[in-house]
Amino acid sequence: MKVEAVRGMTDILPEEALLWQYVEAEIREAVAIYGYREIRTPIVERAELFARGVGEATDIVHKEMYVFPDKKGQMLALRPEATASVVRAYIEHGLHARGGVAKLYYLGPMFRYEKPQKGRKRQFHQYGVEAIGSLDPALDAEVIDLAWYIMERLGLRREGLFLRLNSIGCPEDRPRYREALREYFLPHRERLCPDCQRRLVENPLRILDCKVPTCQEIARDAPRSIDYLCEECRAHFEGLLQYLDALELAYEMDPKLVRGLDYYTRTVFELASRDLGAQDALLGGGRYDGLVEVLGGPPTPGVGFAGGLERLILVLGERDVSHRCYHIIAGPRVYLLPVGKAEVAEALRILATLRRAGIPSDMDYAGRSLRKRLQAAARCGARYALFLGEEELSRSEVKTRDLSTGEEEYVPVGELVDYLKRRI
Ligand code: AMP
Repeated sequence: MKVEAVRGMTDILPEEALLWQYVEAEIREAVAIYGYREIRTPIVERAELFARGVGEATDIVHKEMYVFPDKKGQMLALRPEATASVVRAYIEHGLHARGGVAKLYYLGPMFRYEKPQKGRKRQFHQYGVEAIGSLDPALDAEVIDLAWYIMERLGLRREGLFLRLNSIGCPEDRPRYREALREYFLPHRERLCPDCQRRLVENPLRILDCKVPTCQEIARDAPRSIDYLCEECRAHFEGLLQYLDALELAYEMDPKLVRGLDYYTRTVFELASRDLGAQDALLGGGRYDGLVEVLGGPPTPGVGFAGGLERLILVLGERDVSHRCYHIIAGPRVYLLPVGKAEVAEALRILATLRRAGIPSDMDYAGRSLRKRLQAAARCGARYALFLGEEELSRSEVKTRDLSTGEEEYVPVGELVDYLKRRI
């Protein structure tokens, strides 16, 4: 019986993996330039970390998290996002004691039991940054600027993208805003979807990002969170807008942007693509000033974002970026062709030498005819075929063939590395 991959969990095959490597390398370099250093946390965490950090009632935790007991009955979870893990590690290793702002980034697989569709998977990959330790709106602006910089490096035009921005205030502002929303939605209760009828009681903010068309229509004239900000939150938001202007970063105010995680405070944003349709958010983030404390650390503000690699690949895959992957080793440049069994040992020795000299090279192990092997050499993109027959072996030479011109030469084995390095 054939065993297939789990629904919503996708294999990334070699041709596509090349694009992934390119995108990952660009992201790593971009965030390093902004002063972020990598943190790698486990894929499995205690389930309560996300229940407390992300929020028990959020879709991510309530509906989508992969939860399972280990052999001792401890409830564990495959991480659905990484901010809670990064903050846990930040507290656990006392990074707050180092003072200043901790600038951390991550990149890796996340898991959510969602309905798989284009740009939405059950195992997907996120890269993200967390800047922990400052309330300054300049840091929010820097984080947003970094998001744009990543897109620029990947060659995505500014016109094809836009920034959605909102401020949802602090926990002190929330009850007043929640009440205003409740009052607004109550007369429309019957027309809301069943989920939103529940949200109306539990957390009416969630109604704002419901995807059901009638709910969206009802929400169109709902009260806006920015009208319920306290003095400090308003000043913070105005500070951010001023810095975004200084950086010449455009934004669109989106009063419906509340984001699906409980930990957000004040700034929330999404960078979206005009080419992606329904799942258009390339990345999303915001401030989480209460999270460190909720997870047992000292009160410490933070801001960050997370972006999906699948969606970036989707957008980039529609244009030809193969020329940008040139520095990634895509396959052998040299292909060895020992004519018979007697030449295999010498071919292996030559291969080992070429490889140690950094020349990507290979040969056939499937026992195919010389003609078939030569075809394979051309197909894998090699530039040179090296023939090694009885006669060549006796003279310690190989016959090289330039596969683009057909030109052939005899080259002493001892000079091969130099010969090839000069030509490929
Ligand atoms: P979130 O953690 O929900 O704020 O998501 C941040 C970003 O991760 C989104 O903007 C998407 O680019 C990406 N993302 C979230 N969920 C998925 C998923 N199920 N499949 C693919 N990408 C996702």
